[in-house]
Amino acid sequence: MKRVFDTEILCVGTELLLGHITNTDARDISELLSKIGINVKYHTVVGDNPERLRACVEVAKSRADILITTGGLGPTCDDLTKQVLADCFGLPLVLNEAEEQGLYEYIKTGRGLTPNTHRQALLPEGCTVFHNLWGTAPGCAFEAEGKHVLMLPGPPKECIPMFEHYGVPYLKKLSDELIVSHAVRIFGMGESRVDDLFADEMNRMVNPTMAPYAKECDCLLQITAKAGSEAEAEAMIAPVMAHVKERLGDVVYGVDIECVEEAVMALLKERNLTFAAAESCTGGDIARRFTELPGASLYFKGGVVSYVNEVKEAMLGVDHALLEEKTAVCREVAAAMAEGVRERLKTDMAVSVTGLAGPDGDGVHEVGTVFIGLAVEGQTYVRETHMGTFRTRSFIRRMAGNHAFDMLRRYMSGLPVK
Ligand code: ATP
Repeated sequence: MKRVFDTEILCVGTELLLGHITNTDARDISELLSKIGINVKYHTVVGDNPERLRACVEVAKSRADILITTGGLGPTCDDLTKQVLADCFGLPLVLNEAEEQGLYEYIKTGRGLTPNTHRQALLPEGCTVFHNLWGTAPGCAFEAEGKHVLMLPGPPKECIPMFEHYGVPYLKKLSDELIVSHAVRIFGMGESRVDDLFADEMNRMVNPTMAPYAKECDCLLQITAKAGSEAEAEAMIAPVMAHVKERLGDVVYGVDIECVEEAVMALLKERNLTFAAAESCTGGDIARRFTELPGASLYFKGGVVSYVNEVKEAMLGVDHALLEEKTAVCREVAAAMAEGVRERLKTDMAVSVTGLAGPDGDGVHEVGTVFIGLAVEGQTYVRETHMGTFRTRSFIRRMAGNHAFDMLRRYMSGLPVK
């Protein structure tokens, strides 16, 4: 019988309960666990209170095999996680001299640490220490009463790299099976539609498994297999991957990449093409997103943020009469913007965005109406989208950018641009 490890993530911090901060640690740890095929069954949040934390730990012990805590490892008096966890599992806290030495070295660098810093070097007896390379408070892992407990600091910049660096390998070792996972990235089909397409198969599947996840403005389908070796797991995934790609068709923009602009970058390199952008409601976001990718300068020449009509006219040559006659949010303006920037920056392709990110409309269109243009040699395409009046500005801007990148991807792949 294969052992299944059910996991509970227990985040400690009154700030989380007050809504001062978002529980990104639980989200990010869950995402990493899903990639290694470990089931997360519960997320719990508790304030900095020892009695309530103790009660939560007792509940977690009764229903999970792995307990991962975040927060409450630092030197301040409300940092109580280690003490409570050690008590709950009947372990004493003992001073870890190497960690203590490390903390003193850190203090000597004058980074404003307090005298009670050494308390951070008290760790449950016999634990595996997770030395904190990203901050001060060490984390740790121990096994007791048949449970695996991992403790991580709260700040995401420490918590997540520590989990990736120490936690993931620690948990992978619990099983003699290896987990391989691939994410099929999708733009142009929502998570619920993807779920619908594969629901029956997913319910029947045991190994490999498949699960859809919604991301910001796109979604993914994660295919995960457990096997004795990587090659075996890959062989199990291959037919599922082929089937999924065939069924989803051209909405798949890549596998194991983070965003559609990465797919665009790969195609630009392959085809050795350049592009530019003329942006209205995205305010430069397309340029920012693309230039975050290393090597962008070889393929992206630049852009114009033409937020107001005067700039659309002066910098892009959009016809004054057109802007007068229509509003700036229309098919013709999107086309003229893309053509204008392509001509001026002398690129192979150019994208443009003009739309209403809200909250105010233009009296003609609803908020969420966005026209995205793509100009190439001899042809200009415009995509009209209605994202919904309830969407946030940031969603509309991100989604508009995704559409622009998607049009570039489709054009370069020889797919209908739509
Ligand atoms: P340190 O004392 O070194 O800061 P810690 O483990 O004691 O680490 P906390 O004091 O609990 O961590 O939290 C420190 C900060 O980390 C919080 O103020 C918050 O900004 C962030 N943080 C804590 N928990 C979370 C969480 N679950 N998700 C996102 N951010 C968090």
